[in-house]
Amino acid sequence: MSQYVNDLLAEVKAKNPSEPEFHQAVNEVAESLSIVFDRHPEYRTAKILERIIEPERVISFRVPWVDEQGEININRGFRIEMNSAIGPYKGGLRFHPSVNQGILKFLAFEQVFKNSLTTLPMGGGKGGSDFDPKGKSDLKIMRFCQAFMSELFRHIGPNTDVPAGDIGVGGREIGYLFGQYKKLRNEFTGILTGKGLNWGGSLIRPEATGYGTVYFAAEMLATRGETLEGKTCLVSGSGNVAQYTIEKINELGGKVITVSDSSGYIYDEAGIDAERLAYVMELKNVKRGRIKEYAEKYTSAVYTATDPNADSNPLWNHKAECAFPSATQNEINKNDAQHLINNGVYVVGEGANMPTSQDGIDIFLNEKILYGPGKAANAGGVAVSGLEMSQNSMRYPWSREEVDTKLQGIMKDIHRTCVDTSERFGTPGNYVNGANIGGFLKVADSMMDQGVV
Ligand code: NAP
Repeated sequence: MSQYVNDLLAEVKAKNPSEPEFHQAVNEVAESLSIVFDRHPEYRTAKILERIIEPERVISFRVPWVDEQGEININRGFRIEMNSAIGPYKGGLRFHPSVNQGILKFLAFEQVFKNSLTTLPMGGGKGGSDFDPKGKSDLKIMRFCQAFMSELFRHIGPNTDVPAGDIGVGGREIGYLFGQYKKLRNEFTGILTGKGLNWGGSLIRPEATGYGTVYFAAEMLATRGETLEGKTCLVSGSGNVAQYTIEKINELGGKVITVSDSSGYIYDEAGIDAERLAYVMELKNVKRGRIKEYAEKYTSAVYTATDPNADSNPLWNHKAECAFPSATQNEINKNDAQHLINNGVYVVGEGANMPTSQDGIDIFLNEKILYGPGKAANAGGVAVSGLEMSQNSMRYPWSREEVDTKLQGIMKDIHRTCVDTSERFGTPGNYVNGANIGGFLKVADSMMDQGVV
């Protein structure tokens, strides 16, 4: 790494203490960009990366709400408006007790490059709260969402900042948030994406992240003349991304043998077919139960509790060809990455954001497997959010086939950008460099055009 990048990383750490995930995300991008700065010193002179690292705006607010027992609760809300060089801020809202400013800054930073890769005009942002929706009644969820939007509404707008869902924020939460925005502003606009189909949502948006990740993996396999047909796949998580990843793998002839939540994972040697996936969807989206119950329903499957503090996760220690981490950040550490390689995995499609630690990524790159980093592989979700915004602006919805065809085209384009860019910068087959550099160039050139703002 160059001295310039080393100094820059040291400054990021000093200026943003206690934000290890943000340091990790910046470090990965800055490493890739070393080659770009050598060839294009003008970006260094214009301090483009220094400017991208500093959010354009950080909004932090109190979210007080009263539950059905009359108790007053206070949560913390955030919106990180990271970069608007190529369009309005765009990125999800996460409701999870682990949420803090550093985690949202890492997600917003990643989002800037991801959104750029989609080819659509979207800047980067992210937000959320330390509110934990797990096990809470619909009434509590509604009251919290209304309280959260009672402050957020003054900072967002269809041409300013358009949030979406993420961990803990699905169709139910988007509905309550949208309702409150509409009431406060007295206007019906496409202010959030992931909306219900009856009120401005796009077909394929719920499926888009998972489907897109699998399309991306299929593109990577095609570079070796292979398909997903007959491949055994490991999937983590059992939320939105995991569910539609499994659905698309099944459709393309693969077999998924694992699924998980934060308590443990299921190993089902028979494969999670359409019927078993329908059970997972009912369990998670309607009953809001724990994945453990899967092994009570399908007794040949094995449930293993997992310990987040253990030095590896047994989910990643099964024979397979492909892995789709679809739960959360840093869920694959160095040991897990080595286990995946030892078990024959040579395709990794990241549905989650930054699920692999830096030393895990190094193992994948050294082994020269087909490793699709999240900011490229899971960009299908935000891409269809962009298509939802287009449909809202036109006030005209597209059919399922039209949206799916556009999604497939976008994933192909992102894959092509990664392949071409990594070759152009002397690291063929390195999708990490391809995605980071490809995403950076469009944002950097736009910032150069727009002056120091
Ligand atoms: P989700 O529907 O809320 O599901 C999250 C899943 O991950 C659940 O099974 C959850 O288990 C598990 N999980 C969450 N935190 C965990 C932790 N600390 N340790 C282990 N498991 C954990 O969320 P999602 O939308 O599928 O998002 C999953 C990942 O994809 C996230 O990294 C998100 O940023 C990324 N992503 C999402 C989208 C999108 O469109 N939704 C787009 C791009 C990227 P529990 O139920 O036990 O919490």
